[in-house]
Amino acid sequence: MSPPPHDATRFIVVGGSIAGLCVAYTLRQARHHVVVLDKRDERVESHAGIRVPPNMTRLLETLPGMAALLKEHGTECNGMTMMEETSNIIAQMPFLDETMADLGCKFYMMPYDILINYLLDLCRESGVHLRFNTEVTSVIVAPGQWPAVVTIRGERIEGDLLIGADGRASLVQETLAQQQQDDEDDDSDTESTISEKDSSAGVSEIVGASYSIKLSALQNDPELSQLARSHEFMVWGGPHVLVTGHKCGRELYIVSVLRVSGTGPADIDSDWRPNAPFPDAKLFSQFEPRIKRLIKAASVCHQTIQRIPDVRRITHGPTRLVTIGDAAHTITMHATHNSSIAVEDGFALGRVFSHLTAREQIPYLLRGYREVRLQRSMTTEASELGAFIVITLPHGPARDMRNQQFGFSLGGPDDMSDEMLAMTWATYLVQFNYDANEAVDEWWLMAKFNMQHYTNTNGNGRSDLH
Ligand SMILES: Cc1cc2nc3c(=O)[nH]c(=O)nc-3n(C[C@H](O)[C@H](O)[C@H](O)COP(=O)(O)OP(=O)(O)OC[C@H]3O[C@@H](n4cnc5c(N)ncnc54)[C@H](O)[C@@H]3O)c2cc1C
Repeated sequence: MSPPPHDATRFIVVGGSIAGLCVAYTLRQARHHVVVLDKRDERVESHAGIRVPPNMTRLLETLPGMAALLKEHGTECNGMTMMEETSNIIAQMPFLDETMADLGCKFYMMPYDILINYLLDLCRESGVHLRFNTEVTSVIVAPGQWPAVVTIRGERIEGDLLIGADGRASLVQETLAQQQQDDEDDDSDTESTISEKDSSAGVSEIVGASYSIKLSALQNDPELSQLARSHEFMVWGGPHVLVTGHKCGRELYIVSVLRVSGTGPADIDSDWRPNAPFPDAKLFSQFEPRIKRLIKAASVCHQTIQRIPDVRRITHGPTRLVTIGDAAHTITMHATHNSSIAVEDGFALGRVFSHLTAREQIPYLLRGYREVRLQRSMTTEASELGAFIVITLPHGPARDMRNQQFGFSLGGPDDMSDEMLAMTWATYLVQFNYDANEAVDEWWLMAKFNMQHYTNTNGNGRSDLH
């Protein structure tokens, strides 16, 4: 294979949203050449908000100025209240100071555009080549050749590694899946094909909508203005439908609605355009009046549909492809972890490839990335779906039993034994406590010895990159 027509290793990132910008920045910090291609305008105005749980804060706060940005523009979440659709409270989970101090990071609700515009500035200042209004229309790959993309203007851009951070309707994922299909018999990937299979609890599609409501629109309604002052994450569970609500920064209250469904309309808002039509109001007929009034006050709605594939593939070494963020997995959007796993992916991929010293090592490092990330993202996907199913149980004995079990949390932290507290927190703590950088470092402890051997047998071992 002849090297590409440039001296340094080039990473092409398709998609300049959360996952793409995080990986671009971290790769650039490792002095790699990075070009980011995105079909959208550079200036983002989504008027929507994302959750920044502690596992995401931990990584973001390693970036210059980010801790101050989150503090200034985010809303610090101080707990979660879970209700039935009627507003009957079934569980409460305060984020205790002591627990948050142990985690070392806070949980924020953050306006998407403020975060993304800041990441863009960091990337630009660090020397990432950013190209907007540049849609990738095809991906060209073949084993033994450098991956390339063709843009909507017919320009061909070739690199050493192609990173698909192009969201839930990913073109790169499509190509990667096709490649894996083509070499199903390839020994090196047989194992991954098995481990990447997942039942996803029988759910094939997650339909969601996010409503943005100006805080000023709530001020004349005493009940809603009380919600708007709260820093709690509110969850309402009706049969097969979940609604959440939280304040997000200085101006917004965000309401999200989720349901799993086998049928639905086409994915009408994959680009997060602020004028998507609102879903049918019948969806909320079973919910308490506050929800209906919140929805009525919304000025912007984003609708999303995520389709869960039968088999998960996130890397393909022979053609040098990798997907990250929503392009790689189906973590429920509008829930807790869709953006956090995208950020973890970005940081982890950047950290794995900070060890690259020769092009021949790319397939080896891709395998390492998959080893570090696949289990984590699939566990999170399953736990988010599992939580959704439990919270949206229909009326009946299973729901009654759930309410009884959750009920112990209502006495408040002082009335709970340490064991009860640990039980309430267990799943959340495991997710929140994860450090993607540490996970890569742990993998590298052993992997570095094997990489030396890999480089010697697969290439000349020259440090020809920097
Ligand atoms: C503008 C925008 C606003 C959002 N706002 C919110 C929000 O408020 N709340 C929330 O929960 N989630 C929001 N999301 C989704 C959220 O960012 C993701 O669910 C999650 O953070 C994972 O991010 P990601 O980077 O993997 O994917 P995404 O955020 O979906 O980013 C994918 C990027 O790839 C680009 N892209 C896709 N196809 C191509 C192509 N062929 N060529 C070039 N570029 C391409 C898209 O323009 C987009 O910028 C938003 C996404 C976008 C794009």
